[in-house]
Amino acid sequence: MRYAMTMDTKKCVGCSDCVVACQTENNVPLGYCRDWIVEHTAGTYPHLDLEIRSERCNQCDNTPCVRTCPTGASHVIEGGIVKVTPEECIGCGACIQACPYDARYFHPDGYVDKCTFCDHRVHKGQTTACVAVCPTKSLTLGDLDDPNSEVSILLRDRKWKVLAPEAGTKPHVFFLI
Ligand code: SF4
Ligand code: SF4
Repeated sequence: MRYAMTMDTKKCVGCSDCVVACQTENNVPLGYCRDWIVEHTAGTYPHLDLEIRSERCNQCDNTPCVRTCPTGASHVIEGGIVKVTPEECIGCGACIQACPYDARYFHPDGYVDKCTFCDHRVHKGQTTACVAVCPTKSLTLGDLDDPNSEVSILLRDRKWKVLAPEAGTKPHVFFLI
């Protein structure tokens, strides 16, 4: 089992329902977020193309955030999900510096926090809060190791990209384009 998410840039309308659902589900403090919306305009006028992306930790295969963590607080759990154990985090910020995606933040309680693909839900067979609420079905969570999973089928049928491939992190969030 390797969890992965697809994010359909052709469907996302930037409503931020995913961001709000995540904040509620994961008790993210006011003013912080584990996922966020990016609007990117490409091309030159009048041939402009707007891409809207819902971004979060990529649950990378190759994890500089885990390697740089001096205490082992950042670690990988079942399904390839990258997590932080708050009690073991000393708040040094090494992982924040190491992540090419700016996917982590300092929690006001003194530890580093980030998206966990709602592991508390997915390990019970549910999907993530963001996937559950997205009104346009832009987000899909599934098993990369299962060729019949919806994410595997989308990745076979659609063009996609990952963010900052040059960083060599092998992200598990794929943007359908
Ligand atoms: Fe895009 Fe869906 Fe998030 Fe709305 S809930 S911003 S449509 S991904
Ligand atoms: Fe680590 Fe950043 Fe990759 Fe998440 S996106 S696994 S925090 S390097």
